[in-house]
Amino acid sequence: MTLCSRCGRREAIVYQRHTGMRLCKNCFFEDVKQRILEQIKKYNMILPGDRILIGISGGKDSFVLLRFLPEIHTPSKLFGLMIEEGIRDYNRVETFNFIKSTCHELGIDCTITSIKEVLRYSVDEFMFFQMKKYGSIKISACTFCGIARRRILNIYARSYSMNKVATGHNLDDEVQTYLINILRGDIMRLVQLHPLSVVHSPLLIKRIKPLRTIYEYETAFIAYMENFSFQETECPYIVQRPTLRSKIRELIREIEKVNPSAQLEFLKELDNVLEPLVKIRNRDPVNLPQCVKCGEPTAPGRNTCKFCELIDSMLNTQY
Ligand code: SF4
Ligand code: ZN
Repeated sequence: MTLCSRCGRREAIVYQRHTGMRLCKNCFFEDVKQRILEQIKKYNMILPGDRILIGISGGKDSFVLLRFLPEIHTPSKLFGLMIEEGIRDYNRVETFNFIKSTCHELGIDCTITSIKEVLRYSVDEFMFFQMKKYGSIKISACTFCGIARRRILNIYARSYSMNKVATGHNLDDEVQTYLINILRGDIMRLVQLHPLSVVHSPLLIKRIKPLRTIYEYETAFIAYMENFSFQETECPYIVQRPTLRSKIRELIREIEKVNPSAQLEFLKELDNVLEPLVKIRNRDPVNLPQCVKCGEPTAPGRNTCKFCELIDSMLNTQY
């Protein structure tokens, strides 16, 4: 039996690649909690009076977020929102029931909604109409799904008087997103991704990512240890996920074989480099224009938002 490198008393059950330590369950969970707390404190992510909407996708990451947040913030100020995408054979009643009972045990109120209920079209319908119109995929299901879910979280947070939206993005997600924007040369987006950035419209609710320094393999391990019911069916649209992200993911895996803490170091360095730029931009917030169709905020210089543009492009010949 290998003993835990930290407490030296209990059996080690996880090998933490980036520290080289073998940890027992208690010490591993404590280590993860401390890294979440470190980010929360460093960037003032959560203040005592905050009312936080937790976006629950039904995956392991949002489950881990749900598991740790009530230890950090008053459960009565947390609210879970599950969003059903409307994807045949993918959205499972069992996952939602499991999440509901987890929320109940943790003292967190939660509810479920769907993309169709709030925004009129499910992911499947969006793809169906698109195929009918163009005969091929012009816009991936993931693009629609991502924009729709972000919008719904924002709408619910506003209507439930929540001042933060927490999502379960982990370290791997965050590093991939940073790298994608570096490759695109999108500095404004990079600045906006930084945890200190402010929102640029009273209609937008600040998003926080408390798991941004937790590796994906760590969230998977915690979810497994906590008996999370992993989804057996993969989303049928997974093949439409942006290829750049998949390529970056593979590249990072190769780099981490040589330097297992590369992602943590990269994130820390980039956060530090971006911080002065974020502070300059925060001093002069832009008031984003509102979409003439739906009233939601849109990018500077635009009349309609990306979501209305997607719907219009799909429906023009349908209705
Ligand atoms: Fe949505 Fe794409 Fe994820 Fe499927 S794979 S749930 S379409 S983001
Ligand atoms: Zn719009």
